[in-house]
Amino acid sequence: MLGLMQDWPLTVDKILDRAASYFGDTEIVTRRTDGAIHRTNYAEVHARARQVSGALRALGITAGDRVATLAWNSERHMESWYGAMGIGAVLHTLNPRLHPQQLAWIINHAADRVLIFDTTFLPLVEAVREQISVEHYVIIADPSEMPENQLGAICYEKWIAAANIGTAWGGFDENSACGLCYTSGTTGNPKGVLYSHRSNVIHAMISLSKDCFDLGSHDTVMPVVPMFHANAWALAFAGPMAGAKMVMPGPGLDGRSIHEMLTDERVTLTAAVPTLWMGLLEYMRANKLDLPWLKRVCIGGSAIPERILRAFEEDYGVEVGHAWGMTECSPIGSVSHVPRGLVDAPFEKVLPHKMAQGIPLFGTELRVVGSEGDTVARGSGDSGNLQIRGVAVVSSYFGGDGGDILDENDWFDTGDLASVDEEGAIRLTDRSKDVIKSGGEWISSIDLENAVISHPQVANAAAIAIPNDKWGERPLLIIQPESGLLPSEDDLREFLTGRIASWWMPDEFRFVEAIPLGATGKVNKLKLRKMYADGELA
Ligand code: ADP
Repeated sequence: MLGLMQDWPLTVDKILDRAASYFGDTEIVTRRTDGAIHRTNYAEVHARARQVSGALRALGITAGDRVATLAWNSERHMESWYGAMGIGAVLHTLNPRLHPQQLAWIINHAADRVLIFDTTFLPLVEAVREQISVEHYVIIADPSEMPENQLGAICYEKWIAAANIGTAWGGFDENSACGLCYTSGTTGNPKGVLYSHRSNVIHAMISLSKDCFDLGSHDTVMPVVPMFHANAWALAFAGPMAGAKMVMPGPGLDGRSIHEMLTDERVTLTAAVPTLWMGLLEYMRANKLDLPWLKRVCIGGSAIPERILRAFEEDYGVEVGHAWGMTECSPIGSVSHVPRGLVDAPFEKVLPHKMAQGIPLFGTELRVVGSEGDTVARGSGDSGNLQIRGVAVVSSYFGGDGGDILDENDWFDTGDLASVDEEGAIRLTDRSKDVIKSGGEWISSIDLENAVISHPQVANAAAIAIPNDKWGERPLLIIQPESGLLPSEDDLREFLTGRIASWWMPDEFRFVEAIPLGATGKVNKLKLRKMYADGELA
């Protein structure tokens, strides 16, 4: 027997409709590309997103067509999202930090018809325009700011001012495609993950929960993680769904700009990758500043160094949620979890649970599979392949790339290696392509990096495998010292002694001014390996 309840399609346009109705005057504050602060609210953003829909319709865009954006986090970027998604078009976020060739490849693969972009990216778009088949370019600018260009580009403000404001929203199947985001393609060509309205809405609802974002209408949220990095980790949907005030940092991601926005706008929740927080913490230490309003920070995308965790929790009283996820799972897969019995325990007892990647949120299942296909037991200490399935997990890549990616029971192999503790929380050992195999045993690059980053003179570090005749591979530790400092190799060895297994001790260290970061702000190990092979790491 079926239940007798209504079928209310879960489409994302309803998120902004509700935000405009009940939180219409709640602010959305953006730092524009020229540094100026712009204030608007949900009512205005909603009205302007409807104008974007009319403007897209006028260009002939219909359901299923791809509309791309190349933009920083801003209110106009949000309007473009909801404007496109509201009429059933597919919003494709492009990552401006990708190599131009890769960007062109992705634009063509997605068959983007419209490209909406920030003025800052005009040189990048002009550089690839000969290689791409986009029909319409829209520059996010006022008429007075419109740059000269070779694209015949439309001015965003003029475009939406002339649009029909009565364009209908929603009314399509909740399983319709909603957004498209490509993985960074660290192995082969990038692959497109095609989110549905349903998966985005459910994922955002789940992410609001206390153990994840803990977000409500009295909060102020600043997604520092870009909207082009897996939907700003759901925050572009979760923020309006909660009716929270939103603060969009634009391109200003240095410590000073971030601190200014966090403090001036009284941000209570923020989220970004660990490397981003290193800059903020350094800036605050140097200038003796604090974080009077921030309650919670979600950190993920790569393993959290202990030093960052301690700084937020112990020095600034900010609660840290350590999240694991990937583009393929919308992206949040798990969040660190402190067992009930440790709620009032000293921080040293809580710390290991916060360093772990945690347990899945409702709607997601995780398992760790050993080399024989057996499920790794909780608390056994063994590592295996981390697999995931759930309501917001990819079933196949856009265009069928990569073929069948699920096993017969719908498990998706993440390419990560993990162990599981007694509570069922996962602890990531490594990415399978980053793990160092020495003498038949694994050395976790994550653990090695974490250990050395705790050294006060080390700003950042990366461990890569280098070939070794006897052991197959040995670890090489590449160190970015704190500015003006240079720890010695002996110093580092002494520091690591007792913190890592003795056979993990790197034979060699290299020192660089800055560890290269990839398109999503994570350490770029591909580049480091190439630098090593090319003899550039002297
Ligand atoms: P890419 O890094 O390829 O751009 P994603 O942003 O989707 O793609 O990254 C997903 C990967 O990032 C995961 O498979 C995992 O290796 C790594 N990752 C994400 N969160 C964490 C975390 N908290 N700890 C360690 N690794 C993480």
